[in-house]
Amino acid sequence: MSNEIDLLFPKMVAHRRHLHQHPELSYKEFETTAYIIKVLSTLGYEIHRPLETGVVAVLNPEVKSSKVLAFRADIDALPISEEGDAKQAFLSKNPGVAHCCGHDMHTANMLGVAELLKAHQAEIKHKIVLIFQPAEEKLPGGGRLIMESGILQKLGVTEVYGLHTSPKHSVGTIALKSGPLMARPDEFILTIKGRGGHAAAPHDAVDPIVIAAQVVTTIQSVVSRTVDPTESAVVTIGSIHGGTVHNVIPEKVEMKGTVRTFRKELAEKISHTIEQTAKGIAHAFGGDAELQFDPGYPAVINTPETTDIIRGIVKELYGEQALIEMEKPIMAGEDFAFYQEEFPGTFFFLGTSSEETQSVFPWHHPKYNADENGMKIAAPIFLRLALS
Ligand SMILES: [Zn+2]
Ligand SMILES: [Zn+2]
Repeated sequence: MSNEIDLLFPKMVAHRRHLHQHPELSYKEFETTAYIIKVLSTLGYEIHRPLETGVVAVLNPEVKSSKVLAFRADIDALPISEEGDAKQAFLSKNPGVAHCCGHDMHTANMLGVAELLKAHQAEIKHKIVLIFQPAEEKLPGGGRLIMESGILQKLGVTEVYGLHTSPKHSVGTIALKSGPLMARPDEFILTIKGRGGHAAAPHDAVDPIVIAAQVVTTIQSVVSRTVDPTESAVVTIGSIHGGTVHNVIPEKVEMKGTVRTFRKELAEKISHTIEQTAKGIAHAFGGDAELQFDPGYPAVINTPETTDIIRGIVKELYGEQALIEMEKPIMAGEDFAFYQEEFPGTFFFLGTSSEETQSVFPWHHPKYNADENGMKIAAPIFLRLALS
């Protein structure tokens, strides 16, 4: 295996650097899709196009197996202007767009996996479905649209696996956890309605800025007073806008925020409490408040059985020391969760952090980079899954 992966590695690096130089935004991954199709059709995969961008490819389409494994890679980039010395040789050629979440590496790795699987096709007894998913970074989420297209149900998928590069874990490691892994990232817009007027005559107006100040302070207590202390939840107001000049009381103030939880019911309860709190305060001042709740992705919750399978493979291939058991989930979101709503499955983190390649910056940072050697660790895990 190590010989095989060493031979394949330069190709995966070439895929990764090509994709990195040609990043495309969510739902607009046309060139990326064309590139993936070119590689997969050369390899002889059955190709499906359930959405405008992205690809679903099948190995052993004729095989009627009780297990049908789906491996997912997301393919979209972010609206970020890229920076970084270690990436000088292959920086984004598309101004203002960059692969700063590692999806270029997810895609390159899965193209490498496609080649590995093809080389071992005679030994693989299952049907294998490769999902090159668009638009992970933008609601409603490519994962949701792939699920709604019905393609995976039609192909008879029974389990789904995926990974994300991790700047928090050293290259050479895999980090995972059974149960809740990543949170629901729900969003809301809270509008405080007052009555505009002259800054010198506040008694003739209803000042939404004063109300908003009270609301922001008070909703800091929502999590501590409405959520079971053993459950995780976060409320953050990330944006607040109201008024334009120093001497006018504005009509309204608009706030944007996010609620992070692991349960939809809890997220709804929290947003309801925020709305009631804001209304109560606003009414006390003669104003009003309105909350618009925009559901995000569900939480990523790993099935214990499939997570055990990954654990076993990592230990077998790389030894106990390569496996990092995560004690806590993280509050970031991932649309891989849509697959897990219907199929058992596991999402895990691929260690891609290293000082040499300056792969130390967090996800979505302009200098984000992932150590390419991580792909040498990742690709064989999927081959082993397919052979199981
Ligand atoms: Zn991201
Ligand atoms: Zn990502």
